Amino acid sequence: MQPNHLEAINVKLPLEESGGLYTVTVREGCWTAIEHQEGMIASSEHLPIHELSFAELKATPLLDLEGKVMLPGFVDAHMHLDKSYSLPWVRNRSGTLLEAIENYRAASPAFTKEMIRDRIVKAARNSASFGSAVLRSHLDVPVHMGRDMAMRTIEAALEAREMVSGIVDIQYFPMYFYDPAYERELGEFAAETLQMGIDGVGGAPHLSPQPETNIAWAFKLAQRFDKPIDLHTDESDNPDAKTIDIYCDYVQAGGYGGRATAGHLCSLSAMEHREAERLIGKMADSGVAAVTLPVVNLYLQGRGDRGNVRRGVTRVRELAEAGVIVAAASDNIQDPFHPFGRGDLLQVGLMTAYAAHLAKEEDMVTVLRMLTTNPASVTGVRRYGIAPGNPASFVVLDAASEEELFQELPSSRWVYNKSKWTFASLLNRYGVEADQTISQI
Ligand SMILES: [Zn+2]
Repeated sequence: MQPNHLEAINVKLPLEESGGLYTVTVREGCWTAIEHQEGMIASSEHLPIHELSFAELKATPLLDLEGKVMLPGFVDAHMHLDKSYSLPWVRNRSGTLLEAIENYRAASPAFTKEMIRDRIVKAARNSASFGSAVLRSHLDVPVHMGRDMAMRTIEAALEAREMVSGIVDIQYFPMYFYDPAYERELGEFAAETLQMGIDGVGGAPHLSPQPETNIAWAFKLAQRFDKPIDLHTDESDNPDAKTIDIYCDYVQAGGYGGRATAGHLCSLSAMEHREAERLIGKMADSGVAAVTLPVVNLYLQGRGDRGNVRRGVTRVRELAEAGVIVAAASDNIQDPFHPFGRGDLLQVGLMTAYAAHLAKEEDMVTVLRMLTTNPASVTGVRRYGIAPGNPASFVVLDAASEEELFQELPSSRWVYNKSKWTFASLLNRYGVEADQTISQI
């Protein structure tokens, strides 16, 4: 049983505007005080966190962070947990989005529910060990290939969520692939899944034979079940891919501002600047949030280019400057859509800093917000952040500044969530101590 009271001194909180060091206090899993310090405090009662084993950490109520950075638990707003770690079964020779989709679809009938469930658990657990507290995952549900196969993924996802519920929260947004030939089957399937505990409506209208009908259908479904909507949007190098234009119209007409998210938005980068500005302004006016997935789009996009290869990453800076909420997220992990990644949002933050040219000293906090407060807003997480009254969900990282976080990508991390320490230091990479929920697997 971990003590229900926790106090840490000499804590660096990069998201607090006044800077400096803080003393922070948790009681019964909630923040009770965040107090600014006048310089470093010396205390023999508080134990240095890096000297403690995981067992000692869990029994220690008074900690000295010695100036280490603490952030609220990361929120990874766009993942594909069901596909993660499928690379050994599904390769991608061309490195294109289309081959990834085709090969994954071809391999899908052979995946059992248990295989999918275990992949989700592995990815969720690894993400949590790096400091993520909330994950939003899209799910592959190709109803046109067979209802049973699609439902298998839903059932695997719900089981996996239950198994990791002691360490991380997961939201699911199935990618309902609209094809008029299968409209009735898709509608019945979607309604059933939303009644089973699925959190929102996903999709990829730019890949549908009828993009606008797809968007209209998705909104009708979301409104019927009062769910948020999160669409893969214009993941293409083609500057004429503009489903975002239609998406914004439906958000405005349906009063969906603040509950609608657009992922990828690659074509925004490929198109002429004035047109991109118009669409970005429309997103800001409609209240559509943006999620950039730089690691995956750097891998998948620009495959037809030679020489000056397009990078496929959306206009992160322009979106943020226009007032659009921008989050950066993992997308795929070790699958045909992206052979690398490990569920570490700090790594994604570093790639965002490179890809979006956000590397000035003051940009570091902007990038950190794209991994924390912004995705919390995108995913509708309430009472988020290190502030009195909020649930204590945080990660301590072995770095003395926000810049050092991206310079060193510290592997030593201490993660607290759901009223307890869940992972600590190098233990996370070597699995010395597993959470009870996980050890039952
Ligand atoms: Zn995606």
